[in-house]
Amino acid sequence: MDYTTRKSLVYKTKVEYGDYTINHIEGCSHGCNYPCYAMLMAKRFGRIKNYEEWITPKLVSNTLELLDSELPKLKDKIDNIHLCFMTDPFMHGESEIIEMSIKAIKK
Ligand code: SF4
Repeated sequence: MDYTTRKSLVYKTKVEYGDYTINHIEGCSHGCNYPCYAMLMAKRFGRIKNYEEWITPKLVSNTLELLDSELPKLKDKIDNIHLCFMTDPFMHGESEIIEMSIKAIKK
């Protein structure tokens, strides 16, 4: 598993049916080719360079620490949190990602 870290995680989404969201994984090993909207956005915003990078997911290793610091500050504003718009949080065969998603849901 590859890892990355973030300075913040919980943010207000501009998606019309969404409220807040977290994206605690970059990339998706499913690698759908129709093409994947999330991959196109990741390329557009410079988070990945190519398809090979996309299909090698990176887990945000400080996910739980960020939730611990951000959720108390936002709790009066948050109606719900989407998990997540940019990948599959229960990616088949990626046990660390699945475990982290479950821990994030518990928080
Ligand atoms: S994010 Fe969804 S559409 Fe994109 S590669 Fe993963 S499963 Fe496929």
